[in-house]
Amino acid sequence: MGENFAFFLPVMMASFSIAFLALYSRGIRVAGWWSAAYFCVSAGFSVPLAYAAVAAPVWSLLADLLFATGFLFFSEALLQRWRPYWLLSARIAIWGLSCLLCTTAIAIDNLPLELAASDFGCFLLTALPLVAARARLKSGADRILFGAAVLVALDHLVRGSTVPITITQGTAFLGSEYAFLTQALACIFGLFLALAALATQVFDLLARYERQAMIDPLSGLLNRRGFDEAVGQLRSKARSGSLIVCDIDHFKAVNDEFGHALGDRVIIALARRLEEAALNHGISARFGGEEFVLFLPGADAARAAAIADDVREGFTREIGSTLPITRKVTASFGLSTVQHADTSIHDTIARADKALYEAKSRGRNRVCVRRALSSPEAPPRPSAPAIIHA
Ligand code: GH3
Ligand code: MG
Ligand code: MG
Repeated sequence: MGENFAFFLPVMMASFSIAFLALYSRGIRVAGWWSAAYFCVSAGFSVPLAYAAVAAPVWSLLADLLFATGFLFFSEALLQRWRPYWLLSARIAIWGLSCLLCTTAIAIDNLPLELAASDFGCFLLTALPLVAARARLKSGADRILFGAAVLVALDHLVRGSTVPITITQGTAFLGSEYAFLTQALACIFGLFLALAALATQVFDLLARYERQAMIDPLSGLLNRRGFDEAVGQLRSKARSGSLIVCDIDHFKAVNDEFGHALGDRVIIALARRLEEAALNHGISARFGGEEFVLFLPGADAARAAAIADDVREGFTREIGSTLPITRKVTASFGLSTVQHADTSIHDTIARADKALYEAKSRGRNRVCVRRALSSPEAPPRPSAPAIIHA
């Protein structure tokens, strides 16, 4: 390995350290461990450059410490994904033992012992997270990262075991077969591991942004986009069922009288009710302002009307008993069942909206049902006096 090439590894590892640092600054905490690990390894690979300038045993010790510390960070970086801080004391003990053996080997001028101690330490620190990960590989990204870490662990195991072949007592480290193998393999596997880790973090980041794009931050319910996506995933199950739209009555007055912050808590209270009602495969969403949608796949009009009425009553009761709002807060509900002729859920929503408009115009605080002419009549629940059929 030429001298010019010796610059390549530190620069490559340092670049990864910076890339992970950038991800860390975007809120991906695990990237901090990767950044620290690649920083240490980059510094470790820079040591031969210093050694070339001033030959002293202290550089070897520094390199060993940097590699051991880098691999301690690697082990935590991997475990953060699968089992954070698992066997931390044992891993610190491996790090300590490896450093101690390296120091002793340098003191007695035994290069093979020093290299074997360093390699076996790195092997154990990479192998332990793999043991923890076995039953926890959920995604393709997980498996790629696992595979890359297996290669790094095996690299150190094989290199540590073959020290007597690749280097003999009295041989100089630089220019040895061992040094060549270290640099060549670290280049390949270090690159592979970094790319795998970067890929998993970018996938995680994308998944997080995708989730955020579909969730309303105030209520935690799906927003309009999230609702469309969730209904799309239901496929054939979305072809039957009932859809409820609801809107808080005179909400502007609630805001004006009691303030926006309490208004927000009213929105959250209704959201929780709808979320509970959506359990068992339903989909609840906040479409904007104080307007919500609840889709109940497979539910007929009577069942959905009963659910809507429970939400209506429970919501008013909860606001009256938990929030310092002296006016009675109510909500109106419009309901429609999915029809064969509907080209999308938005046709159903449009009918439910008309029913909601009717509930508002008939005095609010009620559930109105609008069915297409072809749908069979569903009897209203006797105990739900506010149900009106449009
Ligand atoms: P109606 O009974 O006809 O529905 O009357 P309304 O006052 O509820 O209807 P309108 O649509 O005029 O008012 C909706 C209000 O909801 C206006 C807006 O200030 C308020 N609003 C929208 N989004 C939020 C929010 O995130 N938090 C709070 N506190 N208020 C909101
Ligand atoms: Mg309203
Ligand atoms: Mg409104």
